[in-house]
Amino acid sequence: MSEGVQTKVSLLPGGIVQVKVPLPFSLRWVNSYLIPDAAGYTLIDPGLHTDEAVQAWSESLHEQSISFDSIHTIILTHQHPDHYGLAGWFQERTGAPVYISELSYAYTQRLWGVDLGAEFAASLTELYAEQGMPQSVVEEIAPHLVSFVERVSPQPTVTFLKAGETMAIGDSEWHMIDSPGHARGQLCFYEPLKKWMLCGDQVLPNITPNISVVPGENHDQLQQFLDSLEELKGYEVELAFPGHRDPFTNFGERIVQLAAHHERRLLQIRELIQVEPMTGYTLCMRLFGERIAGNTHNLRFAMSETLAHLFHLERQGLVAGTRQHDCMVYSVKPTTTVSP
Ligand SMILES: [Zn+2]
Repeated sequence: MSEGVQTKVSLLPGGIVQVKVPLPFSLRWVNSYLIPDAAGYTLIDPGLHTDEAVQAWSESLHEQSISFDSIHTIILTHQHPDHYGLAGWFQERTGAPVYISELSYAYTQRLWGVDLGAEFAASLTELYAEQGMPQSVVEEIAPHLVSFVERVSPQPTVTFLKAGETMAIGDSEWHMIDSPGHARGQLCFYEPLKKWMLCGDQVLPNITPNISVVPGENHDQLQQFLDSLEELKGYEVELAFPGHRDPFTNFGERIVQLAAHHERRLLQIRELIQVEPMTGYTLCMRLFGERIAGNTHNLRFAMSETLAHLFHLERQGLVAGTRQHDCMVYSVKPTTTVSP
């Protein structure tokens, strides 16, 4: 077991079983939910495929007297490996269909399909190098990405879900909401009678969902996230089931906090580069500190998050990048002033 995940299983309202599946990252665990109905269970987001996760599942299912045979449906809120990784492993043992949105699935194939992410890794390392990441650090990125292939294998045969439609989960019909920004194609699931929201990683308590630039996805990930938050704010939610940490009741308030966090971060970035023009990598180090250096996983998230904010400001015309030697250097546009 990962350190810090003491209680693996919690019983929630409606007979929902929350299983904290351990992760070898700072996040510590991902939440899987088993939602019961008369025929058995729907499994949401089974976790990353590691020996520790398999062990945790084996203990949790045994403890709850849940057999593989009783899991008749598997749903993935989104494509990230900590949610998707064990889907194929569970499908082999249960025979259950695995549901995911088409856009989310396309991402899995880009990272872990026939070329095992070679094109993606090349695009990401090129982007990072252009944004000032030192070559010795850039070289860690591709092997790090490849290390995930075994953590998402075997991969499932999938059936596509469509935002705007409903899906029967447990004894209810849940509305599927397209929720991009953290992951293109991510779906949130809303149950209007109980006012419950399965929110994947879109709205998390205590921690801010990662917003990353993704090479080849030519849109403003941060703007998409903020727009999605605005849409989700319109739902009346009494209990939210997040992908990380614990279920929470202050969904609307949490959305306001997350939006405010990004506004503060955008202002902080403008203030930093007004003092001194800098590369995306230098900015990343200023924002997240040297503590992320040496941890390739955390560095990748920090770098891609920094760039999502930087490119958002660039699209808004508030900062401008110019090429100096081999990389881009950003400065605040002369016509704009930064004021808190
Ligand atoms: Zn995620």
